[in-house]
Amino acid sequence: MESSSDAQTTGVAVIGGGPAGLLAAQRLAEAGCRVTVYEAQATVGRKFLVAGHGGFNLTNSEPPAAFAARYATRQSEFARFLEHFSPADLRAWARQLGIDTFVGTSGRIFPLEEHKPAHVLRAWLEHLQALGVELKTRHRWLGFTEGSGLRIAVEATGQEMTLHPAATLLTLGGASWAKTGSDGRWTTLLQDAGIQTVPFAPSNCGAEVAWSAFFREKVGRQPLKNIALRCGAAVVRGELLFTDYGLEGTPVYALTPAVREALTTGAATLWLNLKPDLTEAQLIHKLEGRRPGKSWTSFLSEALRLKAPVPTLLREVGPPQLPASAPELARLLTHLPLPVTGLRPLDEAISTAGGIAWPEVNDDLMLRRRPGTFVAGEMLDWEAPTGGYLLQGCFSTGAWAAQGMLRWLGQVKPEATNA
Ligand SMILES: Cc1cc2nc3c(=O)[nH]c(=O)nc-3n(C[C@H](O)[C@H](O)[C@H](O)COP(=O)(O)OP(=O)(O)OC[C@H]3O[C@@H](n4cnc5c(N)ncnc54)[C@H](O)[C@@H]3O)c2cc1C
Repeated sequence: MESSSDAQTTGVAVIGGGPAGLLAAQRLAEAGCRVTVYEAQATVGRKFLVAGHGGFNLTNSEPPAAFAARYATRQSEFARFLEHFSPADLRAWARQLGIDTFVGTSGRIFPLEEHKPAHVLRAWLEHLQALGVELKTRHRWLGFTEGSGLRIAVEATGQEMTLHPAATLLTLGGASWAKTGSDGRWTTLLQDAGIQTVPFAPSNCGAEVAWSAFFREKVGRQPLKNIALRCGAAVVRGELLFTDYGLEGTPVYALTPAVREALTTGAATLWLNLKPDLTEAQLIHKLEGRRPGKSWTSFLSEALRLKAPVPTLLREVGPPQLPASAPELARLLTHLPLPVTGLRPLDEAISTAGGIAWPEVNDDLMLRRRPGTFVAGEMLDWEAPTGGYLLQGCFSTGAWAAQGMLRWLGQVKPEATNA
């Protein structure tokens, strides 16, 4: 590949056109910077577009402290990022694009029904264009030069150019759904520059269970509503989906950190509670109401609404004979062990844990080893459950990094709150 120098010293570069990068580009352009976004794919926002597959929740209405706690080990950092660019700011951002949002019954915040991700992205790109943000697609970042430059491969010409922007933001995403461009290949480019990364691991993904051939054939793909699932001390309510390879569904996704942890010591168990709305005493009382001679299958179906696929599941993971005593049966129905053999492959995961290690960035999300280069979005080592926390995390870190870049560029005065 030939090399040409494109010494761009005055503008700022955003590498990676996902939600974190585009939001940062918007904030930087609004502050008066000349911004160019470099994206390896033919179009930007491909993962943002697939976010519509599972319901497209932009953010969540949870109160600030509980919201920040969703980012588990990075709670204190995210409390700051969320204060800087909050769920309310995200809704205001959408409104500015002509996209109204609503709070669903689960607390998740969605665009109104008629606004699909493609519609939101189109409105956003028009706004960015009006702000003067330049998008250069089919431009792949290849790493740093030996000096302070950035190496960019230009697909159209087959040439390589070197950039020297006044500040750079890397927003290259995590390592799942590689077909959207988030392939995680950037880790070696950062490692070459001495920057530590934490290995990627699947987050918000399905779990594998070695079902018998009988179970797979009889149950196939079926939901089980209104259950609670536990792994260790973590309990999540929601809807489970049985598949031929195991389990999917919001509770499984939310428990991936706990399952991953349990799998490091061997097999993990997900404990299923089929009647989480009843107390143990209420359940025992109901079970004691069975008439002699009535089959358990009919009784569970009629009295407790535990219909298919529950009988097949009890046969699959329960004891050969259902316990005769009501307390023992109650215990089984609320502590049904689902033996997990592994998590689904990284590329299938909705998000990924791992990425740039936190000690590598300062409070402004600037790489300590590359002053002037900032990072945001899923390429940082954090994870959060589904429910709007992922996009909000990307937007909030993008806005925060943009503020850090402006500070770096000397356009804003340091805030007392941010050391
Ligand atoms: C099926 C699915 C459904 C989802 N649903 C939701 C949801 O409803 N709500 C929610 O909050 N979140 C959801 N998410 C998660 C959300 O989409 C991601 O967290 C978010 O897109 C990550 O944003 P990002 O900007 O960090 O990275 P990405 O969106 O991954 O963007 C990174 C960009 O960088 C580009 N890039 C990579 N390497 C290079 C390079 N070397 N040079 C130049 N460009 C490069 C990529 O092509 C890509 O465009 C979903 C994800 C999936 C997969």
